[in-house]
Amino acid sequence: MKPVVREIVAKTVLNRSKLGDYSLNCYGGCTHACVYCYARFMERFHPHEEPWGAFVDVKVNAAEALVKQLRRAEPGGVFMSSACDAYQPIEKEYRLTRACARMLIEYGFEVHVLTKSALVLDDIPMYAESRLARIGVTLTSMDEATARIWEPHASSVAKRVNILKTAKEAGLATSVMFGPLLPGISDSDEAIDALMKTAADLEVDVIWTDTLNPRPKVWPSVRQLVAERYPSLLGSYSAILFSAGKREAYVEGLRGRIEAAAKRYRLGKRLAGCP
Ligand code: SF4
Repeated sequence: MKPVVREIVAKTVLNRSKLGDYSLNCYGGCTHACVYCYARFMERFHPHEEPWGAFVDVKVNAAEALVKQLRRAEPGGVFMSSACDAYQPIEKEYRLTRACARMLIEYGFEVHVLTKSALVLDDIPMYAESRLARIGVTLTSMDEATARIWEPHASSVAKRVNILKTAKEAGLATSVMFGPLLPGISDSDEAIDALMKTAADLEVDVIWTDTLNPRPKVWPSVRQLVAERYPSLLGSYSAILFSAGKREAYVEGLRGRIEAAAKRYRLGKRLAGCP
């Protein structure tokens, strides 16, 4: 089904952020429609009739709004993006992410991309020329079938791996977010090992990992999918997400297994974030 696209006018697009000095979102909503997407919380502030993943608001004046902000902002790192994927399919039509990234670079800001879309490849030459960029991808699992279930409209795992390879070959720093690791699905020792091996093979510079969190609006969609596809896991998902003691024990065990896998591949120093 085609997503509902709305053109809107934004006052600002650059925000202070814990994920970097700033974050920048040219779009509201994300048609990659990941089941666990934490950006669903935005629905609280900007409700839509359509479900998450079925709409995208296009901030058509993003570049104009940004240039006004850049005249007053201190240069720093800009995370793209925190509440959408900056390279979701609509970017091909509007190229707002490209226009904003170019402007950020001109003003001496560093762009930190985190995406699940091969569309970023079109902008690798721009980023490589600037050297003011780091290109990252999110990988929840190396298994294509699992990724398709949980991230139905994102690029395939193989295409995401190719983004890291291409960015590295272009001389850019790279990063990867392994997460959220899905309990009983993509958090086994073998699955974590496969992710770390990929990071090692591709010489990824920065690695983050994350577990599934009970953020607002996430549980209903996760629960529905787990009930349909993995019914035997429903009880453990509920416990890991909502029972404080069980969650603590789970996260501690997961952290230990992640750190052990990173150590095996001599990635300890590159592991910037653990659950
Ligand atoms: S790509 Fe990111 S922002 Fe888009 S739906 Fe998936 S998790 Fe959410």
